Amino acid sequence: MQFLLHHNVIIQAIAGNHPKILKQCRNLKSAGWVLSNSLATIHSSLRMTMELKEAHDAIKIALQGIPVASLTGTDMVETPPSADRDYLDSLAVRAVEVFRLDGIITLKPEIFAESGIHAFPPDELPRVLEEGLACIKKVPLLDIPASYPQMWNDVEHEMFKVVRSGHFILGPKVEELEEQIADYTQAPHAVGVSSGTDALLLALMAADIGPGDEVITTPFTFFATAGSIVRMGAKPVFVDIDPVTFNMDAQKIEAAITPRTKAIMPVHLYGQCVEMPPLLELADKHKLLVIEDAAQAIGSEYLERRAGGMGDFGCFSFFPTKNLGGFGDAGLVTTRSKKFYEKLKILRVHGMEPKYYHSMIGGNFRIDALQAAIILAKLIHLENWIDDRRNNAQRYHRLFQKFSLSDQFSLPMEIFPRHVYNQYVVRVHYDQRDALKKYLNSHNAGCEIYYPLPLHLQECFKDLGYKKGDFPEAERAASDSLALPVANEVTTEQQEYVIKKIREFISA
Ligand SMILES: *Cc1c(COP(=O)(O)O)cnc(C)c1O
Repeated sequence: MQFLLHHNVIIQAIAGNHPKILKQCRNLKSAGWVLSNSLATIHSSLRMTMELKEAHDAIKIALQGIPVASLTGTDMVETPPSADRDYLDSLAVRAVEVFRLDGIITLKPEIFAESGIHAFPPDELPRVLEEGLACIKKVPLLDIPASYPQMWNDVEHEMFKVVRSGHFILGPKVEELEEQIADYTQAPHAVGVSSGTDALLLALMAADIGPGDEVITTPFTFFATAGSIVRMGAKPVFVDIDPVTFNMDAQKIEAAITPRTKAIMPVHLYGQCVEMPPLLELADKHKLLVIEDAAQAIGSEYLERRAGGMGDFGCFSFFPTKNLGGFGDAGLVTTRSKKFYEKLKILRVHGMEPKYYHSMIGGNFRIDALQAAIILAKLIHLENWIDDRRNNAQRYHRLFQKFSLSDQFSLPMEIFPRHVYNQYVVRVHYDQRDALKKYLNSHNAGCEIYYPLPLHLQECFKDLGYKKGDFPEAERAASDSLALPVANEVTTEQQEYVIKKIREFISA
């Protein structure tokens, strides 16, 4: 839960009263925010007993790890006047509303009696938390703002720096992102682009894949994987998946290779790497390019090599639901080849090099600096978030085991460490998947089917000539898999709620 810390609490905490409250509010479960407008008031109050610089330093130290909530000018102007609260307290009410906080921690709860927000003194925080956690009524599949307290100040600061600079497309922030992601994924080069889909498209363009060419891939993935191949005029050739990992079965690839095959496009689905060594060996033997769709798998590893850093190209998405998401669309292509790197950069800007001279036809695949700045500010947390997701996955495992649910479900397995759990996908036995999904959704436990119809059976790919039964494992996975909330911000209590609802469904 997230609360605003009233300035009277912060002043008292700095004075040594309520010493625990700031520490408690640095914890994600009881995250505290401070209103930017109250900083000057806090400072003036400290000045009664402190030197200027001393007061300044005291605030800085006290607020370490506490995000500052800044209202916009319009928020402030539109704050309705109150007959019994001063302006700063009305702004606090406004902040609780616009940041959707769970209340305000204050030494004088009576000030907020008529405001409609929950106000309570510092001593009551443990009780409020306990009550709040005990009565969980809702677990969204993904709750992006729930992780804001951890990163808000850095993200906001970086966003405003870009806005103030007036430099919005490509530029130094994008170059910094490219360097850092190249480093993170162990790939020599990286090119920031407009989305994960555009990353795939651009990699295919750089690889000169077009009409008459075939690309081997999986039918059990997000549409963009095969969609980008067809958009280039090439033909996706599907091979079935391994039922345990949901990933393309590396043993089935060789049989699909023809003289027209130009590339293999493995997808590291849900955050677990495809079994890469046999795939890379085949590619080498048949002189095929490997384009990794690592959209769901940033940070995923196979024998200590990272997703996107093993093939000729790695394609990443920073769509908000991915493990490293921007505040909008963005993506990135990594490559091992200097030649492809240069080509990707030129294709990204309409094949233009030098300015207004075009030797090839590219497109607008540019990433904007705002997304780059946000993603960079979030990248610092990625390893911790991956740990959180992996811990959450293990907790589900333990809960499923504790309640002996193994007859009804198959749980996701980490065959190739490390799985980064962009999704935690269970398989529901006895044709119960759809009924379970309906039950969970009606009890506000988020869950989703990724993906209900494999790509070879999609209407728009009819012309490829596939039919039902061609890829039985992919078809089975589409009919029995269900993703449960596993993101870093999901709490133990929320996971217990999901499991409780699953048990209710089974015993009903
Ligand atoms: C999300 C995703 C994409 C596309 O990324 P966008 O940024 O949404 O365009 C491609 N492939 C897979 C496997 C994905 O999950």
